[in-house]
Amino acid sequence: MPEAMVASRASESASSASTQQVDAAVVGAGFAGLYLLHRLRKAGFSAVLLEEAGDVGGTWYWNRYPGARCDIQTIDYSYSFDPELETAWKWSEKYATQPEILRYLGFVADRYDLRRDIRFGTKVTSANWDQAAQRWQIATDNGAKVSCRYYIMATGCLSAPKPPEIDGVKEFRGEVYFTGRWPHDGVKLAGKRVAVIGTGSSGIQAIPLIAQEAAQLTVFQRTPNFALPAHNGPPPADRLAALEGDRAAYRAQARQSLAGVPWPQNTVVSWQLSDAERRERFETAWAAGDLVYILTQLWADQGVDVDGNKIVADLIREKIRGIVKDPETAAALTPHDHPFGAKRPCLDTNYYATYNRPNVALVNLRKEPIKAITATGIATDKRSFDVDVIVFATGFDAMTGAILAVHPITGRDGKALSDVWAQGPQTYLGLTVAGFPNLFMITGPGSPSVLSNMAVSIEQHVDWVVDRIAALRDAGFTTMEATDTAQAGWAKHMADCASLTLHRLANTWYTGANVPGKAQGVMPYTGGVGPYRSICDEVVGRGMLGFRLTGPDAAEQCNDGEVVRLQPDVRLVLGLLASLNLPPIESMGAQGARDFVNEFNKGRPFGRPVGEVGDGVLLGAEGPLPYKLYRPATPGPHRIVVYFHGGGWVLGDQQSDDPFCRDICRRTDMIIVSVGYRHAPEHRFPAAAEDGYAATRWIAEHAAELGGKPGPLLVAGWSAGGNIAAVTCQLARDRGGPEIAGQLLICPVTDCTFDRPSYIDNAANYFLTRGLMFWFWDLYCSPADRTDPRVSPLRGKLAGLPAAFVTTCEFDPLRDEGIAYAEAMAAAGVPVEQLKARGHFHSSFTMVDVVITGVAGRIQMADALRRFAGLPPEVKPAPPKLEAAAS
Ligand SMILES: Cc1cc2nc3c(=O)[nH]c(=O)nc-3n(C[C@H](O)[C@H](O)[C@H](O)COP(=O)(O)OP(=O)(O)OC[C@H]3O[C@@H](n4cnc5c(N)ncnc54)[C@H](O)[C@@H]3O)c2cc1C
Repeated sequence: MPEAMVASRASESASSASTQQVDAAVVGAGFAGLYLLHRLRKAGFSAVLLEEAGDVGGTWYWNRYPGARCDIQTIDYSYSFDPELETAWKWSEKYATQPEILRYLGFVADRYDLRRDIRFGTKVTSANWDQAAQRWQIATDNGAKVSCRYYIMATGCLSAPKPPEIDGVKEFRGEVYFTGRWPHDGVKLAGKRVAVIGTGSSGIQAIPLIAQEAAQLTVFQRTPNFALPAHNGPPPADRLAALEGDRAAYRAQARQSLAGVPWPQNTVVSWQLSDAERRERFETAWAAGDLVYILTQLWADQGVDVDGNKIVADLIREKIRGIVKDPETAAALTPHDHPFGAKRPCLDTNYYATYNRPNVALVNLRKEPIKAITATGIATDKRSFDVDVIVFATGFDAMTGAILAVHPITGRDGKALSDVWAQGPQTYLGLTVAGFPNLFMITGPGSPSVLSNMAVSIEQHVDWVVDRIAALRDAGFTTMEATDTAQAGWAKHMADCASLTLHRLANTWYTGANVPGKAQGVMPYTGGVGPYRSICDEVVGRGMLGFRLTGPDAAEQCNDGEVVRLQPDVRLVLGLLASLNLPPIESMGAQGARDFVNEFNKGRPFGRPVGEVGDGVLLGAEGPLPYKLYRPATPGPHRIVVYFHGGGWVLGDQQSDDPFCRDICRRTDMIIVSVGYRHAPEHRFPAAAEDGYAATRWIAEHAAELGGKPGPLLVAGWSAGGNIAAVTCQLARDRGGPEIAGQLLICPVTDCTFDRPSYIDNAANYFLTRGLMFWFWDLYCSPADRTDPRVSPLRGKLAGLPAAFVTTCEFDPLRDEGIAYAEAMAAAGVPVEQLKARGHFHSSFTMVDVVITGVAGRIQMADALRRFAGLPPEVKPAPPKLEAAAS
């Protein structure tokens, strides 16, 4: 292996006090800055790189504490932009040590001759946009100022160490070290009494090695973290073979993956697996020693659902108890305050076992907080600890710390970034900020950054930024700047993504919670590396959507807008459907379409367990009809909801909305009877409507036999089923019963008018198309009958109907007729609640466990049904239990 030069060198270009003129100034010589410099040069830009440190490496220059390593397998945590570079370097370990990664970055700097444009030992102190010159003016603490067209901050997400929040550090007479600023020539700890404050990733890596060397180690822990064994060694043969077998495919898969590591997306959910299968998967993951594997490959709901997450968290807690001998220490080391993965878990080597050593003690700061650091050691409110060395492993002011440390950064009209971000970082794509032309951030807040393999994210950001400014230059523009609309849209999309994951449930450095006074909010983009990349590409494909480009002679181009208006999971589902290139459903014929729907439904996640699912036959308008009954696990009798499935009066059956029926059964604690009404074209209007009404009557009359509570029924339905539910309420009112306490109409068909805006705006691209709706109408109902309230309930009398909850989705052709029905009922004196679901499409709420952002809506719907029945809000289904481990 070629030896890289990692010598500390003073910059030669920094000697002059005059201003250095370049196209682009880059700050930071870590993974990001080095690749940036290489790409900028290749694109023909003059560039300078400013770096506070004495050499390249960034994170790996500063973090030299014992045990410092990466926690993404090193074959993945590498550059991939140059296949020759890839084959020129061989990693010696699965998780390389800090010195080896630093050697690698030095090797890269030498290979592309990068050092000649780097000014080491040079800290950027401020940056101001000069509107007249259309350039950034950069001040440094060493040598010439820099004037540049493009100012690119590659300052790192984890490069600003967080100062200790404890009084008296200056009083301490012993040695003090910070893991993020570890001395280059090492620290001798043999024979010393050492205190480590902090048990994040750095602490967990350092503690086992410090324990081996020190006479006595006392660890001060505020919040325990989940740690998993790294099982370090040579790079695993199977991963290496996969990489070397087809390098391009391996890297391409990483780029499209969620975390930047090529593991497939898991589709199996926890309740599809037996206890034994879950345990087996967990043991495999524990033995694999791979963070991304255990975070993504156990079951699909582990990162999005508290119950699915609790199963894995409990299994890890069991492991901790199994390793740490002292039960009190084990309890203190066991995390209970956050879901597994909501805070970055750590990879360790002998971390928990270290607490079995006689020279190691744990102090639980939750029970005895630190009062002060004294001349001789650390005092808690219960005890004093005399030590020779204090090691602060207290982490970083993550994501925004290094950016805001350059102060001020002023943009257009003298606006300071620190003011714009006073309530938390605002960005477009995590790469740019409105009001700050030609300012770019690599792995900035709002990008996947720390939730990904950063090598992959960094390359994508750098490529995007350099490609954009090259295109800008080639088109004759001089500035690009995000618009306020685009930035606000990105904030909304970020919030939508965050609501999908469990990150919102933990106070962590991802949310700014580790720094007192810092604005709180999930800072990294939680939607995944692959989706993020496709959004960045979409911005370009849609004419630099959300950017204003300007140039000489008042040239300007602005294609304003929000790049993602769909909920993130809806976007993925629609993207997947589009990639299948399916023929239009209406071209398949009725039977072909039914077969297609049946096949399609086979691929969806199983519905969650309920107490009992049974089949039966009831009497419809003209004969027997099948039904499916979902009974809660709780003791009966229960209230009954009569449910009508969707499918345009043509498709589906009593079990086609099975996951939704199960979900509503669990959330309402009610029996759901899903009715298999007759379909067109075999049975045209008014067969479905009359079956709906007859079935409801029959169910009311047989409620006790079905296990139902005496009293009024509830009705519910989705799409054409919503139509049947609405019609049933009108018929029940007009025909003397049965009594109905409330109606839940989800994206219902309510009218035969097809010129409302939603029919036009959402005519195509959102699965239910206008063409498909026309086909459904034609098969079910002749034009002459279409104004009959039994198919267009909006045209019926609305006074005296049961209370209603009407759900409509923004990207659904049926949206406006659902809203019209809700408003008309309300005008007629019916108590009506509406859920207008932003960013959702027609199938959002029935795609249970696929469209996770639909959960909140389904909770509201279940609450409404319970309210209609006079019951308190939603019941929380009990999480699945796990068998005790075999001893
Ligand atoms: C201990 C540790 C382990 C990690 N392990 C992994 C891992 O396994 N996988 C992973 O994906 N990520 C890991 N990370 C995250 C890691 O930070 C990134 O992977 C990556 O190294 C970041 O590269 P960067 O170039 O963006 O920033 P950095 O490497 O942080 O470099 C930023 C540089 O900017 C310089 N700088 C900042 N401000 C200024 C200024 N005002 N003027 C001049 N210079 C300035 C800094 O001195 C620094 O050298 C780890 C982080 C730490 C701390």
